[in-house]
Amino acid sequence: FIPEVEVDESKLVNRPPVVTVMGHVDHGKTSLLDAIRQADVAAGEAGGITQHIGAYSVQTPKGPITFLDTPGHEAFTAMRERGAKVTDLVVLVVAADDGVMPQTAEAIKHAQAAGVTILVAINKIDKPGATPERVMQQLTEYKLVPEQWGGETIMLPVSARTKQGVPELLEYIALQAEVLDLKSNPETLAAGHVIEAKLEKGRGPVATVLVEEGTLRVGDAIVTGIHYGRVRAMMNERGEQVKEVPPGYPVEVLGLSGVPVAGDEFNIVEDEKAAKEVAAHRAEKARQKELGSVKRATLEDLFAKSKPGGQKELNVVVKADVQGSAEAVSQALQKLAGKKVGVKILTSAVGAITESDVLTAAAGKAVIVGFNTKPETKVEQIASQQGVKILQFSIIYEAVDAIRTEMEDLLEPIIKEKPLGKAEVRQLFSIPKAGTIAGSAVTEGVIKRSAHVRIVRERKVVFQGKIATLRRFKDDVKEVAQGFECGIGIEGFTDLKPGDVVDAYELEQIRQSLE
Ligand code: GDP
Repeated sequence: FIPEVEVDESKLVNRPPVVTVMGHVDHGKTSLLDAIRQADVAAGEAGGITQHIGAYSVQTPKGPITFLDTPGHEAFTAMRERGAKVTDLVVLVVAADDGVMPQTAEAIKHAQAAGVTILVAINKIDKPGATPERVMQQLTEYKLVPEQWGGETIMLPVSARTKQGVPELLEYIALQAEVLDLKSNPETLAAGHVIEAKLEKGRGPVATVLVEEGTLRVGDAIVTGIHYGRVRAMMNERGEQVKEVPPGYPVEVLGLSGVPVAGDEFNIVEDEKAAKEVAAHRAEKARQKELGSVKRATLEDLFAKSKPGGQKELNVVVKADVQGSAEAVSQALQKLAGKKVGVKILTSAVGAITESDVLTAAAGKAVIVGFNTKPETKVEQIASQQGVKILQFSIIYEAVDAIRTEMEDLLEPIIKEKPLGKAEVRQLFSIPKAGTIAGSAVTEGVIKRSAHVRIVRERKVVFQGKIATLRRFKDDVKEVAQGFECGIGIEGFTDLKPGDVVDAYELEQIRQSLE
């Protein structure tokens, strides 16, 4: 439905490399990202990059580099699980005084599985007695052999504290990027991935996206997951409004209908109507999956329902006892027609409901409205075989109400977030098979096993996903209310920390009304 863009070699231009910093907790990822931010040659009087968004680009003497400022490798893994290959290079931070630790090994595994080149930053080299050689030795066990020893991996001693080695690190990243020959076409409709997203008071849904193809512009019709909209405004990492963003750069986007999921792809489509349709279709699919419903509407049904012009229409065959009531019913039904759904009376006649009425209705995908009249014998059976609905009434407003419902059924439901409750992480447990379980206290509302969650750390959403396990003591439970403690496991996220807030919500589908 979203057209594949043909690659036109002549239109390809260089784009900045996209880099993710990974490593064991406390080895200095955050400090290094801060140091790099300050090394931005464009920083000058502007004061550098202050606005904290989930990604930023720095200007280096060798060209621009984009860093994903995500908390560790969970975001990286989440994206990879969605099939997104956003990162060109991984900077693996290893503290010289601590060496290779479990999360270091995990990060190596993820980067290698994704086929992404690793650069090693041996950090905290300013510490007395810090020896990079020990780290280099340890890394050889993970098939990472330093260039100095005849291998292929660049390993640089750095200090995020004194900034020693940071310019060299940037230079090596730029060099590696040259080798990778990263190019994309700025002239196609923009596409990329959501790095992080949150709901902000006064601004609505805010998404940090990475543009990977094309140029993203204010006014573009955007669709990501089940959300859509028109790009209302864009802000770069310095908090400056921008109108256009080329490939390889991150930007904060305002104007989406809801908060998208980190790792989801975004696409720019022709117009807002198309964006809405794609989003609605996905919402319907998500809804079907969620409800586990057998089959409601297939893709074909969904598009068959929407006429080429976009407006939906309910077709009706009217049968009544006398001419006057047939006309009255037809008129009343036509009054229901509005902007969202039209009404088309295929036929309006007097008499019992016949086989021929059923066949007309079947051909025209219509419902039959019988007013003070009945189907002839066996006609009901034929109707059910043909999948034709017969509605019978003797009061006009009842007929009107039933038809209104039929018309509303043609509209895809709106998917909305409904807040459930919040829990605060107090303590973490590593449980075999179950992974990391957060011993938490429910501070507000209720946490449900089926809930969607956002993990909020220092007011920042660090992860969005679903609950994997919910326990009271040793028992799996469906929900836990305010005032109680519970164990929470999150799907695909193990980097929970005490103090994190688990913000639970559910997706609610709201029937659209005709108005
Ligand atoms: P993260 O968990 O990997 O993001 O690590 P942080 O950046 O939060 O750093 C963890 C701790 O190590 C903090 O107390 C930092 O001040 C300290 N740290 C980070 N980089 C350096 C460094 O180069 N030298 C020294 N001496 N300390 C550092």
